Amino acid sequence: MNRFDQSKSKVRAVQNWARPVLPDWPEFEPTNFTSALDLIAKQIEPYLSDTSSKAITLHRPNEVLSQLRNIGDLGDPNLILQAFIELVLRTGVNLTSRQYMARQFSSVVPVSAAIDALLAMAPQPASFFEVGPLPNAADKLLHKEFSRLLNWPEETGTLIVTSGGSLANITALLAARNSTFDQCWTHGLPRGLKPMIAMGADAHYSLERAVGIIGLGTDNILRLPLNERRQICPIQAARLLDEAHAAGRRVFCLVASAGATATGAIDPLEELAHITAEREIWFHVDAAHSGAFLLSDDLRPRVAGLEKADSFCLDAHKTLFVPALCTLLFYRNAAAADRAFQQEAPYVFGEAHDEMVLFESGARNFECTKRASALNLWLTWAMYGRRLFERKLDYIVAITQRAHDLIAAAPDFVALHQPESNILCFRHCPPGLPQQRANYFQDELHRRLREDGSIFLSRLSLDGVSALRLVVMNHQITENDIQAMLAGVRAMGNQILKDWAQDGEHAA
Ligand SMILES: *Cc1c(COP(=O)(O)O)cnc(C)c1O
Repeated sequence: MNRFDQSKSKVRAVQNWARPVLPDWPEFEPTNFTSALDLIAKQIEPYLSDTSSKAITLHRPNEVLSQLRNIGDLGDPNLILQAFIELVLRTGVNLTSRQYMARQFSSVVPVSAAIDALLAMAPQPASFFEVGPLPNAADKLLHKEFSRLLNWPEETGTLIVTSGGSLANITALLAARNSTFDQCWTHGLPRGLKPMIAMGADAHYSLERAVGIIGLGTDNILRLPLNERRQICPIQAARLLDEAHAAGRRVFCLVASAGATATGAIDPLEELAHITAEREIWFHVDAAHSGAFLLSDDLRPRVAGLEKADSFCLDAHKTLFVPALCTLLFYRNAAAADRAFQQEAPYVFGEAHDEMVLFESGARNFECTKRASALNLWLTWAMYGRRLFERKLDYIVAITQRAHDLIAAAPDFVALHQPESNILCFRHCPPGLPQQRANYFQDELHRRLREDGSIFLSRLSLDGVSALRLVVMNHQITENDIQAMLAGVRAMGNQILKDWAQDGEHAA
């Protein structure tokens, strides 16, 4: 480019700057929001109302890939949106189906989902008070309500809202580690002290992950044996802790479950709180599943001892029926919350003594940008009261107990445990089922039922025993639906035995 061209382009740039052509942004028209919501509303109403529809329809990965690609190829934005909404409702899991009995995903209180759309358009990023005042205020109000239920003096504990039980667990382990080992955040784990974390054999996988992530090494997990109800056995736990101590190990944290993912078992929290307090071990309870029992007068005694934990988490997106992710992480002593993350970042956190900075959660949770999910919970609670959660929890727990009683009374079914929450593992063992194929039979039942789509249960293996797993998250499931499920399992079992008999004849 010669000098003449250069100066000309400079002049043009200046002219453009002086008289900008305002671009057209039809994509950002506010009316797009309301018309999209209208479209969604039209399709979601019949979807939510039809509780008899299938819980899932299995798809092949390639089929899903091409369906999504085809929608993208439609060209016209309105057609794409319309087809996309249809596809969402056709794939995935239908949580309002009365055949959905498989997993811990919760159907949500409708209004709590609707405000997700509001908070997406008018966000309140929740780590920072300046831009997210309301979620930070909601944290405090929720903490107050829970403190009352826990019999905690209001001013001593604290509540951090974070994105999922997995993240809450690692955050609590960091607080435990940094509270025990003073210089750990800056210098790393002390080498000579051989630190360990104790947890039950059924602890959620996120805890083993957390141990790996925080640099402790998963070999340094002290696995605590379970009793026949799949709870940590306190006597054995105390013995193992003392043995580890005698061997020069520093067990600095014990993790219990309140509502283990597999069976819903609740560890003996009171006794474990006592054992850990005596030995100056941080007591964390993974109450992601059943911590919500605090909200029910009838169920609260089941989680007695939770108030003695140094920290515990509770997944509101599971058993408080608000959109994912919304996890509450409680600390009995507020100061401990500051120890999980200790780095300074003045560009985001400002001055440490600033009134706003003290009020906001940013320094105490993992996330930088964070959903204002405390608001979904606060609003639902404010509109309908604790009673809504209590009624639904009581109901789904009662139906699960009823399922247990029906199963226990049936000669061809075996319940593997008394349900402690809304989870029940059981086996179908019809006459004529060869003992050596009983495990494989459960797996085959699960596979065929899921493929058929009429009943959606999950499956698991407990110490080498395969079982079906019932999880009641939908309050519209009745005893009739449980009866229908058992009849469906029976019919499928019959079919499998028939097929096996035929195969046997072929083989012979
Ligand atoms: C679901 C669950 C978790 C994990 O929580 P996410 O919110 O899915 O990350 C951890 N522990 C228990 C006991 C759970 O049930």
